Amino acid sequence: AKQAFVRSKPHLNIGTMGHVDHGKTTLTAAITKVLSERGGAEFIPFHRIDRTPEETLRGITINIAHVEYETATRHYAHVDMPGHADYVKNMITGAAQLDGAILVVSAVDGIMPQTREHVLLARRVGVAHVVIALNKADGADPELADLVELELQDLLAEHGYRNVPVVRVSGLRALAGDPEWTASIEALLQAVDEHVPVPVRYLDVPFLMPIENVLTVTGRGTVLTGAIERGTVRLGDTVEAVGLRDGVTAVVTGIETFGKTMDRGEAGDNAAVLLRGVRRDQVRRGQVLAAPGSQRGHRRFTARVYLLTTAEGGRRTAIANGYRPQFYVRTADVPGEVTLTGTELALPGETIEVTVDLGKPIALEPGLGFAIREGGHTVGAGTVLTTFT
Ligand code: GDP
Ligand code: MG
Repeated sequence: AKQAFVRSKPHLNIGTMGHVDHGKTTLTAAITKVLSERGGAEFIPFHRIDRTPEETLRGITINIAHVEYETATRHYAHVDMPGHADYVKNMITGAAQLDGAILVVSAVDGIMPQTREHVLLARRVGVAHVVIALNKADGADPELADLVELELQDLLAEHGYRNVPVVRVSGLRALAGDPEWTASIEALLQAVDEHVPVPVRYLDVPFLMPIENVLTVTGRGTVLTGAIERGTVRLGDTVEAVGLRDGVTAVVTGIETFGKTMDRGEAGDNAAVLLRGVRRDQVRRGQVLAAPGSQRGHRRFTARVYLLTTAEGGRRTAIANGYRPQFYVRTADVPGEVTLTGTELALPGETIEVTVDLGKPIALEPGLGFAIREGGHTVGAGTVLTTFT
């Protein structure tokens, strides 16, 4: 039988961000190694974290690698996203749902374009707390590292992040078991424990979990995985899958987190929810699993949209009425047609109001954030204003 999950410490969702090759995955592996020596984690080596999308981790198909670990005071789920495009998408759609982020910057290379872009994105999607891991400190000239640190403080202050702790680390040397650099990882974790507060979780509201993946567990039924956005779900609850197609209603017969069973999943948890009597083809990624009647699918909505500048990775040219990009909303990815309000054209860098007609209905509500993408690039970030039937 599987072990039961014991909810003994506050749970937080964090993740690494930063320029490619600055050492995010190495650092993630190093954290699990250092904590495994204190019984706070299972060591997950680099090659098990650095997977391409759609590979499997403990039997669950994912497109971002989650690892879990515990410090003395907290339980963390940590995401390490495999590539830059995944960041942009997962951060804007909220798939990563970070309570805090570890910005990994190589002390040898300093601030690079994706460093800036991730800081900007973190601010835009509401990541309230950042801690800097100044990585590769084993190979860096300390005076150069001082300069990088000053520039980083400026960059973060520009985006409203104040008093950001900076910890000089070496993920690679800590992985190799070097005591000095093992201590640097402990200092980083202490900075995260102290600097990232436990978020307010909305538990007393109807349950909502965007469906990330659907899988079949032989002999048991259909399992849906995702991060619980709000509310709680208990064994025996009736839930409804909403969006993309006619909804199905079913009873929850199992809940797990990181392979451990739970009687109750709550906002902030990464959960796998087993449904009774549902076939795999009746539910899909992009739907939300919700308390019955609490969510509805919508095709048409108005939104405020920021068009990323070319420098931020956005378009080079204006958009006009009839523009048809992809809309990434939570875990959904659907085409839609844009009608501009009060203007014929809108340029990169502008913030505009639009009406969107989606190709398929999805669960929407005012205030919900989404990404606009075309050709694999994120070109806009929006917020839903009003929904129509
Ligand atoms: P990511 O793209 O940010 O996930 O970076 P990786 O973790 O894949 O690391 C990129 C490269 O930097 C690899 O060759 C690592 O071995 C190397 N690296 C990572 N951390 C360190 C470090 O602390 N010191 C040194 N010297 N090299 C590192
Ligand atoms: Mg990586």
